[in-house]
Amino acid sequence: MAEHLEAAQGRMVRAADLLGLSEEVVAHLKHPIETLAASVNLRRDDGSAVTLKAWRCRYNSSLGPTKGGIRFHQSVHLDEVETLAFLMTMKCALMGLPFGGGKGGVEVDAHDLSTMEKERLARGYVRAMAKILGPDRDVPAPDVATGEREMAWMVSEYSEIAGSIQPHAFTGKPVALGGMAERTPATGRGAHIALEEMRDLAGLGEDGGLTIALQGFGNAGRWFAKAVTDAGHKIVAVADSSGTVSDADELDMEKLAKVKDEEGSVTAFDGGNAESSDDPEEVLSTQCDVLVLAALGGVIADADDAKALNCKAIVELANRPILPAADTALADAGIEVVPDILANGGGVTVSHAEWVQGRQGIDWDPEDIDDYLEDRIADAADNVREVMQECDTDMRTAAYAVALRRLCSAISAHGTRADFGKS
Ligand code: NAD
Repeated sequence: MAEHLEAAQGRMVRAADLLGLSEEVVAHLKHPIETLAASVNLRRDDGSAVTLKAWRCRYNSSLGPTKGGIRFHQSVHLDEVETLAFLMTMKCALMGLPFGGGKGGVEVDAHDLSTMEKERLARGYVRAMAKILGPDRDVPAPDVATGEREMAWMVSEYSEIAGSIQPHAFTGKPVALGGMAERTPATGRGAHIALEEMRDLAGLGEDGGLTIALQGFGNAGRWFAKAVTDAGHKIVAVADSSGTVSDADELDMEKLAKVKDEEGSVTAFDGGNAESSDDPEEVLSTQCDVLVLAALGGVIADADDAKALNCKAIVELANRPILPAADTALADAGIEVVPDILANGGGVTVSHAEWVQGRQGIDWDPEDIDDYLEDRIADAADNVREVMQECDTDMRTAAYAVALRRLCSAISAHGTRADFGKS
């Protein structure tokens, strides 16, 4: 049963009701256009072989080729892949990008693989999925436990199969293969731009320093931390999978990042008045203005989780860290949420620039990439703000409404269905 997908779609239905969209359009977006399930055979370094379950979902392509990451994780399953592909559909539409939504994954513990095994897996995944991939069909990117290196192997394998060089078939590639140095920081930077754009409507005032607690100190979390501290905000707690470190005055983030690089965990940091705990969940109850969720999905799963928070607002830097079952309790507590489809839209925005660069064959100027990121997030935020005021609704519902308006116009323009009601 598609339990996660159905729950996630409840938020879309709420936005569709707000806009008065017909049931037909909602029905059109309730199922993915195609999901390929495959077995990937992996030869281990010791000569043994394992068969791994893998999926690639193209959720909806009304706005353009489907776009979304590939994750290697032991918890990957079909429902999760399709739910994340649905979210990508909403995110690309909200950001005004000419992309539909997709996602992929392999059920595997990446920590258990050597570098050579990861390469064989990345190449095997592409061979298994090649028939639905392609620069004008489905364009993958990195996700959990995949990065530039995996994208390099994948684009190389895909080009072999296609019989021609296809740099725009994948994004998040190394610069040497047509990637952009700005892609890695883009998600964290974009979330900072989204926070500044929406802070007033999130009850955080128009200006002044904010206190921030951060769950997750990987790619997205670290770049977000740099952007907000450069802007003068204070980070008072950080958690990674090893535990939580906090200092009610302010954590020295430069030193903390160095400790994380050297020791592998944030809890090894002991500067200032920092206190460490081996409980990663402790960060969630930190007294702060903004709680930033930059680690996993499903962290705030229900009303009890929501009631344990001590923040004024939440930024969803991870994908679906708050499950729909917690929405009402958060609203009752007056905690506004900058939703994932807006907050982490910076990554796919710069991926779009990389895809365009691949098609053009001309490198973008780094300043143009930064401007593009800023403009896209600011435009999306403006549109969300307008709908919040026009329809007197929360930020997430408004974000879904903006996305749905674009999707409906495209679905109608394709002409397969005549009348979707007012959009
Ligand atoms: P990452 O693997 O680089 O970092 C994940 C971080 O979360 C690590 O610091 C890890 O220690 C921490 N973590 C894991 N379990 C934890 C726990 N129980 N408590 C506290 N911390 C824990 O991943 P990332 O690229 O930073 O992605 C993080 C999230 O952001 C994911 O949900 C991903 O889908 C989403 N996202 C990332 C991007 C991107 O460009 N990187 C784009 C969009 C969305």
